[in-house]
Amino acid sequence: MSAVGIFGGTFDPIHFGHLRTAFELLQVLRLDEVRFVPAGRPPHREPPLCDAGRRLQMVRAATADQPGFVVDDRETRRDGPSYTVTTLRELREEWPGRPVCLIVGMDAFLGLPAWHEWREILRLAHLVVAHRPGWSVPSDGLLGDLLAARGVRDIEELHGAEAGRILVQPVTQLEISSTDLREIIVSGRDPRYLLPDAVREVIRDTACYVHEPKR
Ligand code: ATP
Repeated sequence: MSAVGIFGGTFDPIHFGHLRTAFELLQVLRLDEVRFVPAGRPPHREPPLCDAGRRLQMVRAATADQPGFVVDDRETRRDGPSYTVTTLRELREEWPGRPVCLIVGMDAFLGLPAWHEWREILRLAHLVVAHRPGWSVPSDGLLGDLLAARGVRDIEELHGAEAGRILVQPVTQLEISSTDLREIIVSGRDPRYLLPDAVREVIRDTACYVHEPKR
């Protein structure tokens, strides 16, 4: 079975930084699919502004016209914090022997040691780390050592095993973040050209970032 990419995130909202990264990795790594997995309740961060159903709707709208992009809603249906390790365990059962590549941006990779059962994650999947503006590759410490031990440069090494390798992959650097987008949207400015029109329409039609001030 050919390799699959898993792209987890809060996607509050999804933007071209996510989509371009996923698209380049789909092609360069010759993945069968990139599976977007929006977190229901992301651990280690403030609760999202948009609820899980709406974030899922935006991810679906953003990816609908791209063959090879798949949306997986399992984390939005699960109670409790959305742990990546739980999702990977389920997928591993569905796909014994299949190379699974967990896609993360460099900022997320730098936070990996705080993830629930993070060492187990590398038993279940490869890590593909996409460069992201403002974040550099760790050269020492726990993650530097991990890269020295597990890092590969050749894509074939990902296809030759089901898990356990780490590939740091350059992608087109787009300095777009959901944090900046939320600020743009909440302040009434237009997010056009930073995310797909279909996502902009969901945001406009549902007013999902417009909240009544708390009394
Ligand atoms: P926020 O600003 O709310 O933290 P974000 O823009 O970082 O959000 P997330 O949904 O938290 O988006 O990110 C999901 C994954 O996508 C993470 O692994 C993150 O590193 C990666 N990612 C987000 N934006 C980019 C980008 N512009 N380029 C490359 N990777 C990105």
